[in-house]
Amino acid sequence: MPTKRFGARYGRRPKKKFAQIETEQRAKHKCPYCNKDAVKRIAAGIWQCRKCDVKFAGKAYSP
Ligand SMILES: [Zn+2]
Repeated sequence: MPTKRFGARYGRRPKKKFAQIETEQRAKHKCPYCNKDAVKRIAAGIWQCRKCDVKFAGKAYSP
């Protein structure tokens, strides 16, 4: 059963890693265009700068 496997995989490991990833994606990131710390993740792999309004693709959890 796929759900069973999924649950085991999530339950065992990475609460720690999850927390790390979450803080990482919530942290402000530097915009490669205007160099301000105004980049927010709007979706997995998509980032937007609130200063210059540019959207760009990055990694899922950090730009
Ligand atoms: Zn910018």
